[in-house]
Amino acid sequence: MTQTTASTCCYCGVGCGVLIEHDQQRILGVSGDPQHPANLGRLCSKGASLHQSSDPAARLLHPQLRLGKGLARSRIDWDSALDHAAEVIGRSIAEHGPDSVAFYVSGQLLTEDYYVFNKLARALVGTHNIDSNSRLCMSSAVVGYKRSLGADAPPCSYEDIEQSDCVLIAGSNMANAHPVLFGRLREAKSSRPEMRVIVIDPRRSETCELADLHLALQPGTDVALFHGILHILLWEGWIDREFIEQHTEGFDALKALVRDYTPTMVSELCGIHQDDLQQAARLIGSAPRLLSLWCMGLNQSTAGSAKNNALINLHLATGQIGKPGSGPFSLTGQPNAMGGRETGTLANLLPGHRDAGNLQHLHEVADYWGIPALPERPGLSAIELFEAVRNGRIKALWIACSNPAQSLPDQQLVQQALAICPFVVVQEAFATSETCQFADLLLPAASWGEKDGMVTNSERRISHVRAAIAPPGEARPDWRIAGDLAQRLEKQLRPGQRSLFAFDNPAQIYDEYKGLTAGRDLDCSGISHALIDRLGPQQWPFPAGAEAGKPRLYTDAQFPSADGRARFVAEHYQPPREKREARYPLLLNTGRLRDQWHGMTRTGTVARLFGSVDRAQLHLNPADMTSRRLREGQLMRVSSRRGNLVLPLHGDPAVASGQAFLPMHWGDRFLKGLGINVLTQPAFDPLSKQPELKQSAIRLDPV
Ligand code: SF4
Repeated sequence: MTQTTASTCCYCGVGCGVLIEHDQQRILGVSGDPQHPANLGRLCSKGASLHQSSDPAARLLHPQLRLGKGLARSRIDWDSALDHAAEVIGRSIAEHGPDSVAFYVSGQLLTEDYYVFNKLARALVGTHNIDSNSRLCMSSAVVGYKRSLGADAPPCSYEDIEQSDCVLIAGSNMANAHPVLFGRLREAKSSRPEMRVIVIDPRRSETCELADLHLALQPGTDVALFHGILHILLWEGWIDREFIEQHTEGFDALKALVRDYTPTMVSELCGIHQDDLQQAARLIGSAPRLLSLWCMGLNQSTAGSAKNNALINLHLATGQIGKPGSGPFSLTGQPNAMGGRETGTLANLLPGHRDAGNLQHLHEVADYWGIPALPERPGLSAIELFEAVRNGRIKALWIACSNPAQSLPDQQLVQQALAICPFVVVQEAFATSETCQFADLLLPAASWGEKDGMVTNSERRISHVRAAIAPPGEARPDWRIAGDLAQRLEKQLRPGQRSLFAFDNPAQIYDEYKGLTAGRDLDCSGISHALIDRLGPQQWPFPAGAEAGKPRLYTDAQFPSADGRARFVAEHYQPPREKREARYPLLLNTGRLRDQWHGMTRTGTVARLFGSVDRAQLHLNPADMTSRRLREGQLMRVSSRRGNLVLPLHGDPAVASGQAFLPMHWGDRFLKGLGINVLTQPAFDPLSKQPELKQSAIRLDPV
């Protein structure tokens, strides 16, 4: 008999509610949940085809082990697999110390999975070497929010999109990356044509369909642009002096700094007309309600933190925060990147928006977990972590729900690191992940529709991801795999002591986790699985005793800093690490297709999702193709300083002259060699450690 289970889409950070139709054996169909506040029944092409991505033929079904790098893996039972893993990891800790072990996890894990992995790494193994692919996604926004506002808390809600007068979209092709939210924006602009939309993007992306003004700035010059806009706001008197005086610090230093960012200077540096710059400033300065949306175009940069702060500066200078339709609002790429930030799943964080570099925070978490202390040595962020694998410092690497062999920049070096790491465990649902080939121990994980837990979307809304069917084969939920390993390791590392991992179900894990949020900015202590099932998805903060979450933060202009004030951050523009030059005359940008997700381990199994784009192509401006005498479809060797691959060309007027664009999704399986990240660079922001995936210098040679 067909049944329906309400759950949440497992792709992007919009966090749409879905209704899964199933017969308890198979997922038969998916529709949008009209009750879910994020999407009100809408789904994009990816969400609407989720049921077609549950082919057991693409799945890992049994644990597999190999005892030497050149050997084939053999099927093994779960107990033997986890006993072996615990023995190897325990030996690594004994011989080389806790920091010889590392965990690399994912913004697609559920909150409970994250929590167990964090506790395993920090409380049991004794290392902060746990980082997530969210490092590639949102870590610059984390730094931006914390430096400007005092906490990593996006202050807005999706309903602000409908209520805004001017929506500034910076470095986000939300038409492809967050299609349901873009649909909400399209409907809002259609019903209120006076709403203005400004899009800041070097490429005329699909999102420009709604743009009243498109600022096609030179790649990476966002900080100069935001400073130039502030310069004009100051000149024209379009700032909120009362808000600045009463609720902020640091304005004088910023005012002095942006004096240099004259319209002439900014227009030349950013490559935009002065008239367009003036118009952007006028729209921003005169809008009764200003909302900014941004994503990877700001975050994936060696100046990602500065870009975030320069944009938030505009909101503080105009008092556009804490009001309906207003505020700085980062869009999260992954379905539970927010949950990762909340549970502390970046090397520099701890659960409850705490910092691993803060002694007081280390003590608080250690006390809560009932252990003597947490390590004070810093952990390694993603790029640093794989560098440590490559130079032999990491001896045992556990990868869960992520595909670093494809998704990290400078892919050849990452694959070299994985190939020589003495012990690689890959905990994964799909056999289509490129990282599986590097696993010494391959563990089958449950996937969407088969496991239960919580996720937090971009607007701080916590939703329940519910299981509809049992996992195929011997696949298990991620939290259970981590917990089962932990219980084995405890026998070596904490013999005779009470287990820290005696979890029977995700609801129990959530109840333990939420205690670490009590009294913090993200207080979720009033939330439980049962409460979400009763009231539906809720936004944090939601402290114990609350009846509802908060749709909007800072409505009283009180910020979670020591003095309650927000901070202006005054930093000069820094250019991208790689520039165009004679040997590499084009600057490569990467981005999303509408119908694919990340490395295509899941969407790449669904034929209909190839209907709009069925192959990797390098997009070039048609004038650049003509001047180089290149043809549509011509195969070219595309080279950066790190490697090369062969791709057909596609003339695309959306791409500016001197630039190139490549969708991020195409990996080894589709390109019959290395994927597109063989070209991208690992240089990262010094504060957020987020790599500059968006700008790499390349050249083209005929093959
Ligand atoms: Fe899923 Fe995002 Fe599409 Fe919503 S917009 S259905 S969360 S991929």
